[in-house]
Amino acid sequence: MVIKTAEYLISSPDWEQCPTPVWPEYAFIGRSNVGKSSLINILANNERLAKTSGTPGKTQLINHFAINNAWYLVDLPGYGFAKRSLSQRRQWEQMIENYLRKRTNLVSVFVLIDSRHEPQKIDLEFVNQLGGWNIPFSLVFTKADKSTQAIVSKNVKTFLNKMRETWQFLPPNFVTSTVKKTGRDAILNYIDEMNAQ
Ligand code: GDP
Repeated sequence: MVIKTAEYLISSPDWEQCPTPVWPEYAFIGRSNVGKSSLINILANNERLAKTSGTPGKTQLINHFAINNAWYLVDLPGYGFAKRSLSQRRQWEQMIENYLRKRTNLVSVFVLIDSRHEPQKIDLEFVNQLGGWNIPFSLVFTKADKSTQAIVSKNVKTFLNKMRETWQFLPPNFVTSTVKKTGRDAILNYIDEMNAQ
């Protein structure tokens, strides 16, 4: 897919204020600092489209971008901020659950996971929750340039094996590096295929 246009549209406090669902929509989510903004920026070919995390956990908004005037890319507030209060966490959970379950044009979610680490409980819990809600998703293992290919492969394999304990079918997975631009074409082609369906 060639990116011709990528523009920021709106930040919404809840799903009901999101743009009219006229286009297919793809949402990106993950633990804070996982590399979500950097990935969105290389996908969209715009270094400053998504803001890289300044004050983590402070703004809990659903950010919509229009890509090629054909689909929405959504930057969701991440999870796992140590400094978030219990009430902020509950608010996040409610907002995310409502968005994920009620947004009618949501085609698929990309869950970002730091490829340097062994499976983390918080990521497994989140993907198991998505599976429980029957929401299609794929896994994106980020920052692949920060460790060896062997470590990345091992962590991907271990994560999928953990998922296999609960699920019969495993989601597609991608390995990315925003430094080397690895994985960009694979993700955009995958979105292209889903848009064509
Ligand atoms: P977010 O909080 O998930 O939006 O994460 P950011 O995109 O702000 O990235 C967090 C930090 O990781 C920043 O310092 C990025 O430059 C760095 N980063 C993100 N992706 C990569 C990557 O693929 N490779 C490397 N080496 N650093 C990355």
